Amino acid sequence: MISSQKSMAALASFSLLRNYSTTGRIVSSVRTSAYPSSINFLTPNPSRRYLCRASATHDEQAAAKAAAIDADNGAPTIFDKIISKEIPSTIVYEDDKVLAFKDVNPQAPVHVLVIPKFRDGLTQLGKAEQRHGEILGQLLYASRIVAEKEGILEGFRVVINSGPSACQSVYHLHLHVLGGRQMQWPPG
Ligand code: 5GP
Repeated sequence: MISSQKSMAALASFSLLRNYSTTGRIVSSVRTSAYPSSINFLTPNPSRRYLCRASATHDEQAAAKAAAIDADNGAPTIFDKIISKEIPSTIVYEDDKVLAFKDVNPQAPVHVLVIPKFRDGLTQLGKAEQRHGEILGQLLYASRIVAEKEGILEGFRVVINSGPSACQSVYHLHLHVLGGRQMQWPPG
């Protein structure tokens, strides 16, 4: 009984499971009454499962390191399928260069991802070159448009996770636009 409780607790401690392959998706999440942390289950394609914990630490860091291994191999990411509309998303803003859509795992009442439609080597902000200046500006300005559309212009946060130390998990540059609640500082 004690060991089964321990294994339940261990399971419950994994509060967020992510699959950022091009085909897998987060599919469901349940909460146990005995253990209030959420437990998530994944669809097939177990070969590319990345395990993260919302409260961060080792699992999230390990997941970020795993994601970074394939970062610059040129393979499409799940965001390419969102751009091509192969995978549905809730689009908030779109123009010929930029797409903004709601995050599937929102961390705030408003959580929108703003991405360049053409990756052009921008797997992460850390890979930016001077020639990317124009698209970087467009992404920032699109974030402001998103904030206005979502009614959070009074106060919002724009986050870019770049690289494994920042827990980046999808290697297609993206800006997180977050708002609709009081933000804390410093970030975790
Ligand atoms: P990162 O951890 O790389 O900074 O952020 C990646 C973000 O992409 C995460 O917040 C995650 O929830 C989001 N994400 C991953 N897969 C999907 C998806 O299939 N659809 C949407 N809308 N968001 C996704």
